[in-house]
Amino acid sequence: MARIKGTTLLAGVIGWPLDHSLSPVMHNAVYAALGLDWVYIPLAVEDEVGLRRLVAAARSLPFVGFNVTMPYKAAILELCDEVATAAQIAGAVNTVHCVDGRMIGYNTDGRGLLEALQGDAGFDPAGKNVVILGAGGAAGGAFVALILARAGRVTLVNRDLSRAQALIERMGPHAGGVQVETVGYPDAETAVCEADLVINATSVGMRPGDPCPVPAQWLSSRQVVLDMIYGTQERTALTVCSEAVGAKTMDGLGMLVCQGATAIDIWNAASQERTPRDVMLEAARSEISDRAVAEAAL
Ligand code: NDP
Repeated sequence: MARIKGTTLLAGVIGWPLDHSLSPVMHNAVYAALGLDWVYIPLAVEDEVGLRRLVAAARSLPFVGFNVTMPYKAAILELCDEVATAAQIAGAVNTVHCVDGRMIGYNTDGRGLLEALQGDAGFDPAGKNVVILGAGGAAGGAFVALILARAGRVTLVNRDLSRAQALIERMGPHAGGVQVETVGYPDAETAVCEADLVINATSVGMRPGDPCPVPAQWLSSRQVVLDMIYGTQERTALTVCSEAVGAKTMDGLGMLVCQGATAIDIWNAASQERTPRDVMLEAARSEISDRAVAEAAL
């Protein structure tokens, strides 16, 4: 637990709901390990009026920065004074750095994804075929990062095709030689079967009993499958199906740790000390297992 003093700076996560967030335990554990005089708190706001009030207040409070999660990753863009290009194209900010009362927005989800893929699966997207299921904030961060990493082809599969199309249009001139396309679920079989990497960036899998977002027979043992969902008591249908066919399977915990650590790297850039990912992962795993024990006792 952080030792709060008169000099302690604030960090936190804005979202709704936040009851199951793992960010407070991960962040506070690593602040202690780094000797940072910071404390990370949940900042649950129910609507965008609350979001605007909170951000206005944060300008005059001693915030080093904050994370932003569902459902405000798009709404926060307008409230920042400056937004990094990658976050503008993604249409999503998940990290805000507070500098002298100014709010600077970043998207660390994409960088977290690439780091987790490299670290946990040894996967380099350069020249590879990738399918992203979803076109929301998390998909946007992944899309931009994969294009910057020079993937060969990135296909966005979404229910609402206009949302996927808008993301492709924002990426437009920055796509370089990377092929980008969008298809609906009924037409996605070829893209998914041919993919080297399949990413679930939808919320399908968050609730117990949610189905696999694509038919299991579209997956194969030569693929890497990453489900961004993390921390659920039961494994998601996608990770179960993917493992059953022998694909290299990852849940979203590694990515969560890496996006959070990258946010701290931004806030703490002056120290040049890289945030230790292992401390955050250990804290998150221990919290997940404590919650499972508490749930089983009910
Ligand atoms: P958004 O609300 O911005 O986007 C949700 C996406 O899910 C949309 O593409 C939506 O499609 C799709 N979707 C929702 N329900 C269905 C359904 N029944 N069938 C098909 N598609 C559906 O959420 P985020 O992008 O912020 O987050 C998405 C997921 O990623 C969440 O589970 C979140 O926890 C996880 N995440 C994990 C991170 C990590 O570090 N591991 C980081 C960020 C997010 P449509 O547009 O058609 O409505």
